[in-house]
Amino acid sequence: MDYGINIWGENNFFIDNDRLRINYANQPALIDIIKDLEDQGIKGPLLLRFPHLIRKQINSLYSNFKQAIKEFDYKGEFKAVFPLKVNQFPTFVKPLIKIAKNFNYGLEAGSKAELILAMTYNNKNAPITINGFKDKDMIRLAFIAGFMGYNVTITIEGLNELNSIIEVSREYDKFPVFIGIRIRLHTSGVGVWAKSGGYESKFGLNSTEIIEAIEILKKENILDKLKMIHFHIGSQINDIGPLKKAIREAGNIYADLRKLGAKNLSAINIGGGLAIEYSQWENKRDRNYSIREFSNDVVYLLKEIAIKKNVPMPDIFTESGRFIASPSTILIAPVIELFSQEYNAKALRLKEKNPDLIEELFDLYNLINETNYIEYFHDALDHFESLLTLFDLGMIDLIDRSNAEILVNLIIKKAIIFATYKGFKNKELKAINEKTQEKYLANFSIFQSLPDFWGLKQRFPIMPITKLNMSPNRSATIWDITCDSDGEIPFNKETPLYLHEVDLSKESYYLAFFLVGAYQEILGMKHNLFSYTNEAIITFDENGDYKIEFLERTQKIRDILIDLDYEIDEIENLLKENLQNTKLDEEEKKELLGELFLLLNDMVYLKD
Ligand code: PLP
Repeated sequence: MDYGINIWGENNFFIDNDRLRINYANQPALIDIIKDLEDQGIKGPLLLRFPHLIRKQINSLYSNFKQAIKEFDYKGEFKAVFPLKVNQFPTFVKPLIKIAKNFNYGLEAGSKAELILAMTYNNKNAPITINGFKDKDMIRLAFIAGFMGYNVTITIEGLNELNSIIEVSREYDKFPVFIGIRIRLHTSGVGVWAKSGGYESKFGLNSTEIIEAIEILKKENILDKLKMIHFHIGSQINDIGPLKKAIREAGNIYADLRKLGAKNLSAINIGGGLAIEYSQWENKRDRNYSIREFSNDVVYLLKEIAIKKNVPMPDIFTESGRFIASPSTILIAPVIELFSQEYNAKALRLKEKNPDLIEELFDLYNLINETNYIEYFHDALDHFESLLTLFDLGMIDLIDRSNAEILVNLIIKKAIIFATYKGFKNKELKAINEKTQEKYLANFSIFQSLPDFWGLKQRFPIMPITKLNMSPNRSATIWDITCDSDGEIPFNKETPLYLHEVDLSKESYYLAFFLVGAYQEILGMKHNLFSYTNEAIITFDENGDYKIEFLERTQKIRDILIDLDYEIDEIENLLKENLQNTKLDEEEKKELLGELFLLLNDMVYLKD
């Protein structure tokens, strides 16, 4: 069982005997990094960020487009910006900016706060593009960025924004930004994130509005500022077909605008949407193209249109975010309980004299083997039914019922192990295994760390990071620690996840969730007051050894309450008062208060 690592892993990780290793530098095992962090007192869920994987993705984007440009003798340039909405956290953005310098890779901002980040951190000659709805202050910020020397393009989402730009420009004696127009294409992407494109989309100008915009720009004598047209047909475009249609549509609009006099219009911004392969199952692949095919198609189609319409080949801009950010981040959640472990032989409370059916179950449990397991499994289920009926009739007691539950579960477990050796030839056992999944309780919150699973059922690759030389035989449902039944990744026969039988009193077991670097943290919710996880940036030194370059602990209980605008002094005083008003003696009150205040300063996640 390789958990589909060859489908989604992009050669970034590999299984070496029992453990998962990072395929970079000295190839550390993930478990060793985790143990190292645990030695520094880190407990609970952990986000690991790997800047070398950001670099790999940026490099892949640029080198594929460069290759396509060379291959098709394309005359325009390739340029790209990172859309900050995908991940605004400093632990991601700061390493990205360092890597971006060599590529002249810029930033895209969709709000005033993101624009401030772009104006603060962007590399000087790298482009800044500005999308989203804008008020005059946002346009003023864009002008200030232009005055700082940044190469800024404000993309208008509607005609009123163009009018605002014109009004703001009158406040200054120079016009230090370029203008882009977001076009409302006919084409939209496919899948859960497809709504950003198409005629019903929230964004962009239709053909009539585009012509009107050109007329306004001409009238104001600033048509030379129009540099770019922009579209975005949705995130995670799984099918290349709609993208090709969108490129043809946008290419023709570009050519016609040039003919209408937009002589400085020199770039087509194809937005984001470049998909990531999230699937762990060969027959459920998400994406039907590679980055090579994507870049070839964009370059080839734009060249074809430019030649046909006799206009210069435009520069190609992309704003791909998911593709750049997803692979760099792994979420690690320690498993803290396996629910079937309640069914342990040690928990049996056999009596001097047990009901006959219990005695028989006990024999089945002791004598089950690889030849009789199907028959014994059937017998056990049959006996269990009878014992439950006897309980309803008041003929056996709660202790007998508990013994029956334990024995039947132990028999099923043994039968599943024998069936695994034989490749699950027995359909009934396979079905039972699928039905009686093991519940793995993991120390994390789906709402905080995988909101797209909660909201859109987006699957992320999941695998354990140890025991990989052993066959996982438990069909697994993952429970998070929130008090919400939505905090669950249920076993699904179509996309099955099997995990190992583990004795957590003897060993640790961690689940890793991959490709979580895009959108997840910022969309994450503090449901049940579970907040950001622990976070570490892992880099590699010149000898190839890994380094924990940065480590931030998850929030304390008191801090998350402060975030919600509670006055912590008020909470502390009221807690103190609640203890003071009891009949406990002074010494006990003092001790409990000390303990309470320590716990208030503890982390929000579970500790053990
Ligand atoms: N550009 C725009 C305008 C967007 O709205 C988005 C996200 O939806 C992106 C770029 C990034 O898309 P992706 O992360 O799919 O590459």
